[in-house]
Amino acid sequence: MSTLKRVQVVENILSANDRLAAQNRTLLDAAGVFSLNFMASPGAGKTSLIEATVRALAGHLRLAVIDGDIATSLDADRAAAAGAVALQINTGGDCHLDAVMLGQALPQLDLAKVDLLIVENVGNLVCPASFQLGTHKSVLIASIPEGDDKPYKYPGMYRGVDALVINKIDLLPYVPFRMDYFRQGVEILNPGLTTFPLSCRTGEGLDAWLDWISSLPVQPSH
Ligand code: MG
Ligand code: ZN
Repeated sequence: MSTLKRVQVVENILSANDRLAAQNRTLLDAAGVFSLNFMASPGAGKTSLIEATVRALAGHLRLAVIDGDIATSLDADRAAAAGAVALQINTGGDCHLDAVMLGQALPQLDLAKVDLLIVENVGNLVCPASFQLGTHKSVLIASIPEGDDKPYKYPGMYRGVDALVINKIDLLPYVPFRMDYFRQGVEILNPGLTTFPLSCRTGEGLDAWLDWISSLPVQPSH
């Protein structure tokens, strides 16, 4: 296959995905569900942030979590234990979620009984950025042990998100991480990006994150 032909095939796949993402958005809007797409490398703390968020908000909002993983339901089990309705998507090897997978998962939830849906993407800093899901906002979770060079190495991921969490700030005294250098890299790619340095382990910085969630147009309807 020629390079041109291959480019065309990839573009067609992405535009088909975008159409399905728009359908997902329509379905979510019709049900009054606000939705977030959590993306990060493996181990950055997506599930820990989901647990902390669900624990803090479960009394005020009806929360659902859709967990994308290559295998296992460990993360969905944690989200459910924290108080969310949780659904696992096993991608069977795929390294990202796409709009088809989310479109197949949404009818399995009773969306009329959900205010806020968090979609936990597969841990990966590359292709999740290319596949729109139809969610309302995207959140990238970075973490201190990953190193301060990640915005420079994975620009696509940093460019397209609506908020950035910098998790595990409790490890700053122990890990070489130049916060200024990291944030300069982010600023070049995504100027003025809303950023939350925090620690899911100690709880430091979580209040500002939860305030941001509360500022979103989530409508509690019970
Ligand atoms: Mg996880
Ligand atoms: Zn992938």
